[in-house]
Amino acid sequence: MNSNTDYDDTLAVGIDLGTTNSAIAYLDQSGRPITVPNAEGDKLTPSVVFFDDESVVVGKEALKAISTNAIDIAQCMKRELGRRFYDKELGGRHYPPEALEAWVLDKIRRDAGRAIGELRHVVVTVPAYFDEVRRKATQDAAYIAGLELIDIINEPTAAAIAYGYEQGFLNDSTSASRPTRLLVYDLGGGTFDVTIMEIVGREFITLATDGDVLLGGQDWDSRLVEMVADAFLAEHGVDPREDANTHGRLWRDCEDAKRTLSARTKANIPCDFGGKSLRHEVTREQFEHATRDLLDRTAFTTRQTLQAAGFAWRDIDRVLLVGGSTRMPAVSQMLEQLSGKTPDASVAADEAVAHGAALHAGQLLARHRGVPPQFSIRNVNSHSLGVVATEPASRRRRNAIIIPRNTHLPITAKRIFKTQKSNQSSVLVQIVEGESAAADECVQIGRCTVRDLPEMLPAQTPIEVRFRYLENGRLTVLVNVQGTDRWAQREISRDHSLTPEQLETWRTFVTGTSRP
Ligand code: AMP
Repeated sequence: MNSNTDYDDTLAVGIDLGTTNSAIAYLDQSGRPITVPNAEGDKLTPSVVFFDDESVVVGKEALKAISTNAIDIAQCMKRELGRRFYDKELGGRHYPPEALEAWVLDKIRRDAGRAIGELRHVVVTVPAYFDEVRRKATQDAAYIAGLELIDIINEPTAAAIAYGYEQGFLNDSTSASRPTRLLVYDLGGGTFDVTIMEIVGREFITLATDGDVLLGGQDWDSRLVEMVADAFLAEHGVDPREDANTHGRLWRDCEDAKRTLSARTKANIPCDFGGKSLRHEVTREQFEHATRDLLDRTAFTTRQTLQAAGFAWRDIDRVLLVGGSTRMPAVSQMLEQLSGKTPDASVAADEAVAHGAALHAGQLLARHRGVPPQFSIRNVNSHSLGVVATEPASRRRRNAIIIPRNTHLPITAKRIFKTQKSNQSSVLVQIVEGESAAADECVQIGRCTVRDLPEMLPAQTPIEVRFRYLENGRLTVLVNVQGTDRWAQREISRDHSLTPEQLETWRTFVTGTSRP
């Protein structure tokens, strides 16, 4: 947090920037988190951007255009953060995903500003499983939207804080008397996370986390779309997926039917295309059968995470449900079968993350004003961090891990490597993120070069590589060639990052609501 900023009048605000929906909350005068409705009066804003001829439309209105202007709509941008461009061209041009996310944040900022006064400093949440690259892209999206991030916090941690608040653990008198262990199962629209946390007193400690950034409610929708489209094709000999607008409309109707199937045992899905029509009935049983493998993937990750934390189910006190997709009855049933406990849906599935982020913002602002913190957070890294090292015998490029996943942050760790040749003039350290032993199967997240090494440096000279990894997910790398004064330091920035100039340009365009 920037110590020069005056936060005295700053409201504590948290934003859950979701794959399908986003939400914003602030702390009222009593310190209670309150969700701020958008200009349409809704608590959730669809994270959808529509490029109309003259303007950029965000939210519910953008979503409506899916059945008429599907090709000009961007959705699920969160899944593409970290890439250079969003996968489809919109209105004849390519946009970076962070700029599209920024349009969503900009609407949220403006709408909330009307209700609670202008806001700038916010905490934004990310899936715990987000890697370094995606965290940085989220940070850039906030900047483009004219916001200043006071922190990024993991979604399951935010949900656990909201839970702790609701349970009264954050009050002086009722802090958790014994450690409470939570398994947070967070299935949203586009991402899945599972996290094991411990609340000890008023400390929220993450013990292990895992997940899938490419799994969410959208995949369940997609199965329904396939079912109906296949039935239509079989009946009428034409495929409704061929037309983007029909496909868009079908998608919307399937998402609707999916919600119906959470409350009832069957739903009818309409499909009209090329003058033909079909009303396809789907039962909950058929839907659950067609999506069983998706649920099984979450069950697998859940078991693995429990194991990574070194626990059995009897060690877990509560299984906390977070994310809109946990409303599907099959999720609770699966978790109950797995854990032998009734999952806890006491936190508002759609609002808990924004509430936890606002509570975290409140606590950071209070700390800045000299008030003792109400609670504290300890996080782990969700991916191992290492460097590329060449195996002497096989010459294979290996991932030499320096900070294993699920290590508590902040951490400084080091490892010694050796120069390969004598008289080497520079050393290149390639930093990778991932679990595989093969470096090429990991994500390369940066490089750090030490140049101008002294002449005649012998082969096998030790090189110390030191990583400093902070709670906000930022990594600094220090490389020192031992016995010399040569060293290099680098804060990792991703390859596809926008330059500071590009960020400024996008910021002007997005916050000025003009088209670039
Ligand atoms: P979130 O990202 O947490 O807002 O979750 C959004 C996802 O939850 C979307 O895929 C929605 O379709 C899904 N969702 C919301 N309500 C329900 C419901 N009642 N039944 C099934 N899925 C739902």
